[in-house]
Amino acid sequence: MKPDDLCPRPVAPPESSTSPLADAIQLSTVWRCDDPAQADALLSGQSAGYVYRRDRHPNADALAEKCRLLHEAERAAVCASGMAALATILLSQCQTGDHVVVSDQLYGRTQTLFVSEAARLGITATLVDACDSKAVASAFRPNTKLAIVETIANPTLRVCDISALADLCHQRGARLVVDNTFASPAVFRPLASGADFVMESLTKIMNGHSDVLLGLIAGREAVWERVPGTLATFGFVANPLECWLASRGIGTLALRVERANANALAVARHLEKANGVASVRYPGLESHPDHALARRQFGEHFGAIVTFSLAGGIDAATRFIRATRIPFAPSLGELETTLSHPQSTSHRAVDKATRKRLGIDPGMIRLSVGIESPEFILAALDEALAAV
Ligand SMILES: *Cc1c(COP(=O)(O)O)cnc(C)c1O
Repeated sequence: MKPDDLCPRPVAPPESSTSPLADAIQLSTVWRCDDPAQADALLSGQSAGYVYRRDRHPNADALAEKCRLLHEAERAAVCASGMAALATILLSQCQTGDHVVVSDQLYGRTQTLFVSEAARLGITATLVDACDSKAVASAFRPNTKLAIVETIANPTLRVCDISALADLCHQRGARLVVDNTFASPAVFRPLASGADFVMESLTKIMNGHSDVLLGLIAGREAVWERVPGTLATFGFVANPLECWLASRGIGTLALRVERANANALAVARHLEKANGVASVRYPGLESHPDHALARRQFGEHFGAIVTFSLAGGIDAATRFIRATRIPFAPSLGELETTLSHPQSTSHRAVDKATRKRLGIDPGMIRLSVGIESPEFILAALDEALAAV
């Protein structure tokens, strides 16, 4: 055969009577079909198999299956990012004329999606304090399709009662969507408490290695019908290499969460006694307003995020951030401890009055506690506090 004719064709993989311990990476964008009847059966979903990567591919399916098992969900899918997962939920469940109930403590872009972008599609929204069940109950309208909340809100770390919210939604014919990014299934499984959809930014704790952008949607069979079609039609498909990396990252999820959560509790207790610290928020502390609820929902795990406020305001926060070895990296769930400054990053777009109402002050720092030794993290914090 001439090189020109040989090179464009794939060669058969070498034979082996053994099977690999690591997953394969499958980058093919298209699969070869036998005949029109088979192509028709595959594309209509009558028979199982891959045809075109945007619709389905093996690395996304393998990762989704791992996440499905972790959440004990009936169905799961992964998308290109956490925002793609949220967009898939909005676009698959709502249409013009519908209404959504939206927690007033959501990730900034989630609020933009469910309020401003939804409004452009003729979907209206009511913002509500998800920790106030009376306020939530009165926000429903006859056309309410969804309510969306976060298990642990950013950066206040308020915890809401998922089974009470699920009951409220179901009494009114609406579906509950829970963003579980700050918890992960190692801390909490919202579907077991009655949520209809759980979504997570796999970019954060689930992958855990700061090198992948992906999102997860999991849910019950009864709500799933439009999800795969919306995901494929809007082109929210996840990249196979990133799915492979996240699958590897999730291999250590339980160990990472165990260590990071224990570290976070030690950090929170340490900061409570530290000079120059005005307040500390962590759901595992008895002083947290939702501590009893958090214990009932999560058991012994309270997440890896700790928020504290320096008494000296923005000047103290700036000195702390400039002095510390802990990277100022506005994300979370990394292997190493990182910090963020909500006022200048995640909550930049929130107006002053709302920030004040939520309790977000200029001296507030949010820690994402990593898996280093507790001694290392406490020493790094003390060193920076001494510079304040
Ligand atoms: C990061 C994040 C998202 C968005 O996920 P991406 O993967 O960055 O698109 C949504 N919700 C929460 C709580 C997040 O932290």
